[in-house]
Order: sequence, then structure tokens, then C-alpha cells
Amino acid sequence: MRAPENLLADCSSCFGLCCVALPFAKSSDFAVDKAGGQPCRNLLEDSRCGIHSSLREKGFSGCTVYDCFGAGQKVSQSTFTGQDWRQQPSNSSEMFAVFPVMRDLHELLWYLADAHDRTSTAALHSRLVHEYDELDALTSATPEILMSLDVSALRSRINNVLLEASELIRAEVTGKKKNHRGRDMIGAKLAGADLRGASLRGAYLIGADLRGADLRLADVIGADLRGANVRGADLRGCIYATQFQINAARGDSTTQLPESLTRPDHWA
Ligand code: SF4
Repeated sequence: MRAPENLLADCSSCFGLCCVALPFAKSSDFAVDKAGGQPCRNLLEDSRCGIHSSLREKGFSGCTVYDCFGAGQKVSQSTFTGQDWRQQPSNSSEMFAVFPVMRDLHELLWYLADAHDRTSTAALHSRLVHEYDELDALTSATPEILMSLDVSALRSRINNVLLEASELIRAEVTGKKKNHRGRDMIGAKLAGADLRGASLRGAYLIGADLRGADLRLADVIGADLRGANVRGADLRGCIYATQFQINAARGDSTTQLPESLTRPDHWA
């Protein structure tokens, strides 16, 4: 099971939900403060961004990093059947509340699809498919059901099978593997490091120097790669890597990416 198309953001089918529903705090990532539910001042009437080609120059680099895993188009076109919050203001608060829940569900689907898309997890395939189908069905629930979901409980249940899958995948790398799970590695000097099959689950790698590092088959679920230098690094086969993490890191044409992810336009 490859991550299906519907887990990839399609902004043309979304009512600009990330630009309205989410709150921003003024920082190096966003030039302004904005409350959740308030449309960004740069959002156009047709849901396109008025400064799309100059987001970074204008202080909105966070917008070039964010990825909704396709939750925006799902909420816009399926949950709310194509009714724009502008035309149906009575739906807007529900729509904005459902969006982050849908994003969490789609993120979990992304991880399950990744775990399933590996031959070493064959013993878990039926469980992974079962979890995927159950979760996928939930994404078509009503706004009321979606808003009442205990996403933390879901996340923790699904994490069990993701963890088992990770063990099987990382066992493909022979020898001792590094365990940096949850570790504070902010600014760590890891240029050229051998991190094959390592556990980097939830590790704080903000601004880390990972130039030329070998992260093949490393589990990076939840790892914070903001500003990490991954130039020349090998990330092929990284487990549970997301476009959001790649967008947040600093790479270039020499960075080798997992097959399912694309090279960000803003990389040099
Ligand atoms: S700057 Fe553009 S992409 Fe960012 S939130 Fe505003 S409208 Fe959306």
C-alpha cells in the first residue's frame, strides 16, 4: 500500500483552511500574529495565497513548510460537501475545528501506509490494513463525530503497530543501531554520522548538522528537523518521514530523499 494521492495536499480543492483555521504567533516563521478562525491577511477570495511566490522573503517561511496531509481538501470537499466557509459562515467554526482533527487522522494514515509499503513488515500487513481501513472510514464521519474523537488515544493505539513495524524494518540493518529516541540533539554535530537503522523517534534535531549523514532506514517519526542541515545526507528508506519534516530541514540537490517525498522548491 503506497500512500494514496488523497494524503497529498491539493490546495486547489481546499478553501484555504490552513490559512484560516490555524493560529499563528509572530515569529521568524510568520510575520504576523493571527488568531485561529481569522483569515490570513494574504488569503485571496479564491483561496489562493496573494504572496505565494515570495512567502519566504515576506517573513512567512512557515507557510512553505506546513503540510496538511490532504486534510484540507477532505474537509472542504467531503466533510462539508464543497461548501465554502465564506458562503456558509454558520459552518465555519465546525469546519475549522474539524480541520486539525482530520490532519491528525491523515498523518496516522500516512504512517500506516509507509509501514505497509515494506516487505519486512509482511507479518504485520493484515493488522496494518485493518488499522488503515478503520481509520480511513473515520475520516468520512460527520463533523460531530470527528470533533468528539479522542485523537491521543487513537494515536497511542496505532503507535503500537507502528513501533513493531519499525523494529522489523530497522532489523534490515545489521549490527548495533543507535537509539536517540526523544533525545535533545539541538544543534548536534552529526556530519557524516552513521545513523542507519537508528531510532530518532521524537528526537529534537533542530539546527543539527547532518551533512552527509547516513539515515537510511532510520525511524524519524515525530523528529523535529527544523533547520537541520541535511545537505548530502542519505534519507532513503527513512521510516515515517513526512513532507513537513523535509520542508523544515535545509537540504539541496545532493540530499537523497525517501521515494514518497519531494524536494522542496525553497532548497538551494
Ligand atoms: S501567507 Fe499565504 S500561505 Fe501563508 S497563511 Fe497567509 S495566505 Fe496562507
